[in-house]
Amino acid sequence: MTSDIRTFESLGLSQGLLRALAASGYTQPTPIQEQAIPLILAGHDVLGAAQTGTGKTAAFGLPLLQRLGKETPARGPRKPRALVLVPTRELAVQVAESIKEYGHHMKLNVTTIFGGAGMQPQIDNLRRGVDILVACPGRLLDHMQSGHAKLDAVEMLILDEADRMLDMGFLPSIKRVLARVPKERQTLLFSATFEARIKALALEFMRDPRQVEVAAQNTIADTIVHRAHPVDSAAKRDLLVDILSKRHTEQVLIFGKTKHGCNRLAEQLEKSGLPSVAIHGNKSQAQRQKALDAFKSGRARILVATDVAARGLDIPNLPLVINHDLPMVAEDYVHRIGRTGRAGATGEALSLVSPEEGALLRDIQKMLKAEIEMVVVPGFEPSRPIRLDAPRPPNGGRGGRPAGDQRPARPSAHRGHGKAQPRSAQPHAGPQVPGSRGRGPGAGRRDTRA
Ligand code: AMP
Repeated sequence: MTSDIRTFESLGLSQGLLRALAASGYTQPTPIQEQAIPLILAGHDVLGAAQTGTGKTAAFGLPLLQRLGKETPARGPRKPRALVLVPTRELAVQVAESIKEYGHHMKLNVTTIFGGAGMQPQIDNLRRGVDILVACPGRLLDHMQSGHAKLDAVEMLILDEADRMLDMGFLPSIKRVLARVPKERQTLLFSATFEARIKALALEFMRDPRQVEVAAQNTIADTIVHRAHPVDSAAKRDLLVDILSKRHTEQVLIFGKTKHGCNRLAEQLEKSGLPSVAIHGNKSQAQRQKALDAFKSGRARILVATDVAARGLDIPNLPLVINHDLPMVAEDYVHRIGRTGRAGATGEALSLVSPEEGALLRDIQKMLKAEIEMVVVPGFEPSRPIRLDAPRPPNGGRGGRPAGDQRPARPSAHRGHGKAQPRSAQPHAGPQVPGSRGRGPGAGRRDTRA
């Protein structure tokens, strides 16, 4: 619809925002930005299908800032005029950081509200005055009930990653929050898919929303080389140390199955002289942020994570992602390796596969529509062959997730709503194409927080 538009300037953004974008190194809008920004600036409600990595935060953050920036903020404490609802504290922090970055030349206050952190600092921030509030629904309700968060001045409401909020059981909280936001407002809703429950939400809370949709960033770029090492379960850790000791220059993201497994793995790697941090749902917000900062700054070379903890994190493009354990659900393989090979860069996805994981490997290959090359590492030969017709490991049914994961399992009825299959411009480019340079949906973009 707006495919001829190629610059931020032509989208109608103000000079202050254009300067901030240039400072961030953004040269060109991403597809979701091209489509959504003009509609939002024109005042429409917008329903956007886009995942993390597509640039959706700027797609709503830029027009939001432009609208709020039209009025000089009143002096003294101010009530929020924009409310962004997000599912997790990590996303709250990321969204707020991005909005601050884009609004660098504007005098607007941005504050986050999320659980797992002290109430008082959040109350202090609310008292000081807020223009843009980025909040998780549960904690926001607490602040509303105690009278610290007042939403009667909200003129822009954004539901970010709405599908995840519903997965996490936030619907009742969202409805209670929305009941306190003025009806006269602009509403934006972003979700990975337009499944029925999202459409129902839009129908209830939005006014004549315009729909925009882009291919997911978390798709399998054809610049990724996929490889698997067959190995016994008990020897995986030693093989990992062997691999990481030989390839000591790169930053690596390693996926493990359980929280305890990830912790143990990070500890063992540390003991082997490989600086590592773990991130998972059992850690406090401060610990998670510290681990993520250590990894982003390069102090820790290795980040060990569970699927749930890694979802939605703005982890920079990485040369190597290792699956210490195969994911229980093939779809998670796509999310995991979406961390590598972004924006036309080459990447490598390495999986350690034990004989018990044959069925999981079969699921992944089926989804990729290609075989993953198996490379035996001398000294780590498995005691049994990897059989693709092996039965599924316990706890490994479709839709099943390891016990103790923070996020409730997605109801299986919702699986396959466009997420199970890569939704890419080159959806089934397939693995194992070293050397070929595909330009995925995010090609040409730079991950400035790398
Ligand atoms: P998001 O999907 O909002 O989480 O954004 C993913 C990443 O893309 C973030 O690191 C952004 O800073 C970055 N990004 C967003 N828009 C652009 C753009 N137009 N050009 C380059 N990078 C961008």
